[in-house]
Amino acid sequence: MAIIVQKFGGTSVGSPQKIKAVADRVLRYKNEGHKVVVVLSAMSGETNRLTDLAFQMQARPDTREMDMLLSTGEQVTVALFSMAIKEAGHNAISFLGDQVKILTDSTHTKARIQSIDTEKIFKYLDEGCVVTVAGFQGVDGVGDITTLGRGGSDTTAVALAAAMKADVCEIFTDVEGVYTTDPNICAKARKIDRISYDEMLELASLGAKVLDIRSVAFAKRYNVPLHVRSTFTETEGTWVVEEDKIMEDVIVSGVTYNKNEARVTICGVPDQPGIAAKIFSPISDADINVDMIIQNQDTGAGLTDMTFTVMRIDYVRTMELLKGVAKEIGAKGIYGSDSITKISIVGVGMRNHSGIATTMFNVLANEGINISMISTSEIKISCVIAEKYTELAVRALHDAFVLEKPDLPSEAYELDNPKK
Ligand code: ASP
Ligand code: MG
Repeated sequence: MAIIVQKFGGTSVGSPQKIKAVADRVLRYKNEGHKVVVVLSAMSGETNRLTDLAFQMQARPDTREMDMLLSTGEQVTVALFSMAIKEAGHNAISFLGDQVKILTDSTHTKARIQSIDTEKIFKYLDEGCVVTVAGFQGVDGVGDITTLGRGGSDTTAVALAAAMKADVCEIFTDVEGVYTTDPNICAKARKIDRISYDEMLELASLGAKVLDIRSVAFAKRYNVPLHVRSTFTETEGTWVVEEDKIMEDVIVSGVTYNKNEARVTICGVPDQPGIAAKIFSPISDADINVDMIIQNQDTGAGLTDMTFTVMRIDYVRTMELLKGVAKEIGAKGIYGSDSITKISIVGVGMRNHSGIATTMFNVLANEGINISMISTSEIKISCVIAEKYTELAVRALHDAFVLEKPDLPSEAYELDNPKK
């Protein structure tokens, strides 16, 4: 007998029929003798619909009231789901965030979970109930409803699994698992059987949308095994687990891309102490997040260039702010592009293998794709390229690193590695 937390996303509970199907599936686990806690999202499209309503009331909706509103989507699904279980002749009970006490801070619309009181959940599990908890919501110290930010139900599920010391947290969704790349643009994309928390964190932050990144961080911190799988098939999905020896042998696990960024450059900047602070202060004051930053070496004239990326929605505002900064510090000019893609390869095997970056650069060069920025971490290499080459780059890199083959160890393929 295991304790299992199962989370079903919006597309899995998008209609009464689908909710009934989920109830049947959950009952199969219960009938095998497991204790099952279910976390549900709102019906697909519902959170968007509610958000839309809010914007018809206020240009910048009050965040406390926004949480009052958005949390209703999940209240609907958990109640309907419990009814479906009861109709099938079993006991069930649903809870909202404040009833099981998912305590969060008071940062409305992006609250963080501080603690979960699992006593009630265990009590009802022991009585043979299927316990269902509304995803995405909690309650703060003064009793106000909070939400965890879009996609937050994954985090509810993992946090519950951690608090209950569950054996596994299963994330049921409309795809079969985590893929080596986006199957919509690369026909050879393959479902990954096992991936480490760190790789999943990189993939999630670089654009893979299957799991909310905060849930992965939670899973890693509390060592919760995550199983991402499809609601609509029986196949095993992808296990996100602690890194092991076999994973280290796989150099590249996935290729991912992000089209949500824009690149800006401020050039001919005096190369003096304090300049970077002057450039970035107004940008951070405007709550604009900066991702990659590259500063050139002074070429001799006492001047340098600074290039960085921001979210695409912040592009126009960033250019405006930079115009002011350029004037103030006497920079020569600014330019940028909002039709870029950040394309990345991720793999824990990179830690122990050299030449991976060179291979990536060669692959892009062979396709005639220009790289405008590069950044690396221990297990990731990212290149900024023109957006129009996204598909081409993804397919070429997927081929070059033979990602269609299941978890191939490093020796199994020849890398274009000049050091060898
Ligand atoms: N319903 C919320 C959203 O659409 C939370 C979730 O589904 O994870 O963002
Ligand atoms: Mg989601």
